[in-house]
Amino acid sequence: MASTENSPTTGSAQHVTGVTVHVDSDLPRGTGEAHGQTSVRAGAEALLEAKDHFHFCPRCGVERAAAAGANPYRCGACGFTFYFNTASAVAVFIEDRDGKVLFIRRGREPGRGKLALTGGFTDPRETGEEATRREIREELGLELAGLTFVGAWPNQYYAGGFLVHVLDIFFRAEAATTTMTLDAEEVGGVEWLDPGTVDPEEIAFPSMRQALRAYLRGRGAV
Ligand SMILES: [Zn+2]
Repeated sequence: MASTENSPTTGSAQHVTGVTVHVDSDLPRGTGEAHGQTSVRAGAEALLEAKDHFHFCPRCGVERAAAAGANPYRCGACGFTFYFNTASAVAVFIEDRDGKVLFIRRGREPGRGKLALTGGFTDPRETGEEATRREIREELGLELAGLTFVGAWPNQYYAGGFLVHVLDIFFRAEAATTTMTLDAEEVGGVEWLDPGTVDPEEIAFPSMRQALRAYLRGRGAV
């Protein structure tokens, strides 16, 4: 359930900075959310990665000879090899005609109440653009006009009890539609902000702060 001042009431429709917002908490869940929209926990304890939990070979079951944590995992008995690769995620600077950018207030921990761009993990065989359009459709109910690549920066997320390394891929786009249907579980509220005035400390993720700096440079704002 939404909780910030700009968050509309579930089941109602209201105008938020010129667009009609309708919150539907019963939206179908996209496969891209299987990982959860998660992030590194500020001040978190030392977090283990999935590679630290491979104590037995997942193919033949033989106990690992060496200490857990190496990447790739190689089974000395059957030769099974597994690379713990970086995951990929997308996020987008959605612009209005006045140059403002759509930020969300995160609806869940970690970073609940902090500003973020909308996005999520890519699914297998998706392009970055397809993943972006799907996530924006799922979380905001918006369709996007042309997407332009901004850049990509590494991030660390806490997902499923593990620290996950992620490459966050950023785009910019204009909204092709204006009526938003928010996923209340993911999105606590939406705000159209002048991106040049956003306090970086209010942004939930380090990669988004880096992306914002690059985005502003691209606009000639800094
Ligand atoms: Zn094995």
